[in-house]
Amino acid sequence: ARSAQAAGLSSTEVAQVTRLLEKKLDFRRDTRRGDEFQVLLESDIIDGSSFDSRVLAIQYTGARMDLTILRNSADNNFYTPDGHSLDPAFSRYPFEGSYRMSSGFNPRRTHPVTGRVSPHRGTDWAMPIGTPIVAPADGRVEKVSNHPLAGRYVVIRHDNGYSTRYLHLSRALVNRGDRVSMGERIALSGNTGRSTGPHLHYEVIVNNTAVDAMRVELPESQSLEGEVLVAFQREAEPLLAALRSGQAGPVVAQASAGSNSEDD
Ligand SMILES: [Zn+2]
Repeated sequence: ARSAQAAGLSSTEVAQVTRLLEKKLDFRRDTRRGDEFQVLLESDIIDGSSFDSRVLAIQYTGARMDLTILRNSADNNFYTPDGHSLDPAFSRYPFEGSYRMSSGFNPRRTHPVTGRVSPHRGTDWAMPIGTPIVAPADGRVEKVSNHPLAGRYVVIRHDNGYSTRYLHLSRALVNRGDRVSMGERIALSGNTGRSTGPHLHYEVIVNNTAVDAMRVELPESQSLEGEVLVAFQREAEPLLAALRSGQAGPVVAQASAGSNSEDD
């Protein structure tokens, strides 16, 4: 991050750029010393000082990976030059932050309470009671109920034959029939039903079959198409030309560009 700041980006701009690049780049895995990136900014100049600078485009040129992303003024989201969204349509985890996975998907597991072989059709994370659980994708609440084993639980139906289930909750924050958006809080984790300690049991079901939530291929994000794509690409042309001409001035990544060691 220091190198980027030295090249004239403010710390807020560095944070903006980092947040965007992180959606596609793993800073530890994909970046190398000597990688370069260019940032096109738009800012209002008032009395010689710039305010409200906004990132318009970023081009990352690396030994391991190249990435160009551009703002689409129609929706203010970022896309690759061919119109692919940076945001997944379905998150891997139904919560923010990171928690210890206490039990993975395992069709041949020995049950921790009964000692018998019983399949574990979900993924468990140990987390304090009351941890917010969020919808990993848009959907509709199919069920909010109680069960002697599952405890308080919620089922959400998503597009493309996907459903998700959340067990052992302390509280549901949604009702049957509610529409939920990706990232919206749907429940608080708990320790209800047959449970060995406070945790979330999370299941992803595809076409009525429970799958490994950590490995299943998740639905791809929406891409721009048709006239919307044409308009975006027309708008992107001068930005790409500016990046190609080096007008933005390259920023050379040092050890790692904008990495944040407090992550994970
Ligand atoms: Zn479980």
